Amino acid sequence: MSDANREPFSLPPLPWSESALSPVISKNTIEFHYGKHHAAYVKNLNGLVAGTDMADMPLEELVRSVYGDSSKQGVFNNAGQVWNHTFYWNSLTPTPTQPSQALLDKINESFGGMEEFQSQFKKAAAGQFGSGWAWLTLDGGKLAIETTPNAVTPMAEGRTCLLTVDVWEHAYYLDYQNRRPDYLQAVVEKLLNWRFASDQLGAA
Ligand code: MN
Repeated sequence: MSDANREPFSLPPLPWSESALSPVISKNTIEFHYGKHHAAYVKNLNGLVAGTDMADMPLEELVRSVYGDSSKQGVFNNAGQVWNHTFYWNSLTPTPTQPSQALLDKINESFGGMEEFQSQFKKAAAGQFGSGWAWLTLDGGKLAIETTPNAVTPMAEGRTCLLTVDVWEHAYYLDYQNRRPDYLQAVVEKLLNWRFASDQLGAA
């Protein structure tokens, strides 16, 4: 059994300052989204795993091990959201980036080009009913656009994630209210971190 006083999971630092994504995503949104929502998932997760063997697992292993186990739905929801949010922050950057040649080749092969990818990704993300996530994933050597509800991540099903965008209302409501497509348009065209995505592909 683990030491119940230890906090096994922590809130990772943001890869940029809270105002760095403004005006696409405001400092106000980041303060709530990172400082309240993401932080709460970490706190809740630590409370749920305290004193259990789950406290000793690496986060990805924990997410995979409790996925689909209805008796551990709360652990999955919080662990998944901790992982998803960290992956989301890394998927965004205010600095313009370009995909590696290897990634660009796969985008061309899978979607017919970067503009077509952007169009399909925005459409899928806008169409996710309710809370969830849109993803660029690697599945059997080909790229795919996926959406997942709530805390679900393609990582839990063994696929490699390259990028994600949060489409929970808390991700955009302060800046865009109900205009999810406007949030997606701005994020997809201005903030996606193609260097991070290229690194994920390279490590796959
Ligand atoms: Mn979120």
